[in-house]
Amino acid sequence: MPTIRALPSSVVNKIAAGEVIERPASVVKELLENAVDAGATRVDVAIERGGVDLIRISDNGCGIAADELPLAVTNHATSKIASADDLFRVGTLGFRGEALASIAEVSRFVMRSRTADAASGAELRVHGGVAEGVAPAGCPVGTTIEVRDLFYNVPVRQKFLRTPGTEIGHITEAMSRIALAAPQTHFTLSHNGRVVHDLPGLPTSELPHWRERIGRLFGDEIAAALVPVESENQGVRLAGFVAGPHESRSNNRLQYLLLNGRAIRDRSLQHALGEAYRGLLLTGRYPICFLRLDMPPELVDVNVHPTKLEVRFQDGGRLYSQLLGTIRTKFLSTDLKAPGTDGG
Ligand code: ADP
Ligand code: MG
Repeated sequence: MPTIRALPSSVVNKIAAGEVIERPASVVKELLENAVDAGATRVDVAIERGGVDLIRISDNGCGIAADELPLAVTNHATSKIASADDLFRVGTLGFRGEALASIAEVSRFVMRSRTADAASGAELRVHGGVAEGVAPAGCPVGTTIEVRDLFYNVPVRQKFLRTPGTEIGHITEAMSRIALAAPQTHFTLSHNGRVVHDLPGLPTSELPHWRERIGRLFGDEIAAALVPVESENQGVRLAGFVAGPHESRSNNRLQYLLLNGRAIRDRSLQHALGEAYRGLLLTGRYPICFLRLDMPPELVDVNVHPTKLEVRFQDGGRLYSQLLGTIRTKFLSTDLKAPGTDGG
């Protein structure tokens, strides 16, 4: 007969960490989200060897008080929600209080931080989930986190890491999603000392400025091909850009959907997008879009998945129709007709 036993907390924590931190890009995503939540206007990301050797993220956000540093790396500790009711009105990117604990569990982790009212900063080191004491450290207001030797103590995970080139691709993608969601924040990304992205903070998040950020991320040619779309239905605002059918791609990687400032994936809305282009695209071709949905937070559940990539809408059907209708209408006007596909 097998015996049932409670797992030691070190194993429990590694299992939990595995849900949130899959690869270096997951670390970058979580740390960037924290920087945005902290109100940073500037965030610098330095990566060495695809993020396996080093991920360093510095922000000029609100910082963490020295005596709260140990709590910040404790699982299920957060400053962003306080009660279950708050789950229905999450206004921040984070709220589960898992990311720092998970990252510190599977790496050599150093966090330096200083709040605006503190005379100096403090530092906390955690190696494989084991924290040292908080020590004083000189640093500017904000937070810097260094993550070294990711998965050094999780050999199975380490085996699944790809080449630095592949990992930096995933990191760039994770950064793009957050940079689209926070156009007013200045982001930089460097890999092995070479600058990959330098995205100046824009004066507003309005569509013309958003187009500028899209151009910096994906190239001016794509930005220039985009046509604005906008609609509002019962408190749900849809705004953004789509490209005409002649600008389609062989994969859906240039389809970005933000919900209340959070990049999400939603099969139903992707389907609606496909339907909007029905008859205009060959099979196997995907339209380009950058869309933002804004709605009262109580109309959507973001607590569906640890990485929060998937959400659940209260009225998915209505959203589907709004997206389909807004984009389809655009195509029925003449401005998006591909050359030579004159539909009358
Ligand atoms: P969550 O973001 O879900 O709250 P995290 O584990 O990512 O959980 O972070 C734990 C807490 O640490 C946050 O709630 C926040 O108070 C603090 N924190 C983390 N990163 C930063 C940062 N860059 N600047 C300021 N505070 C931070
Ligand atoms: Mg977080």
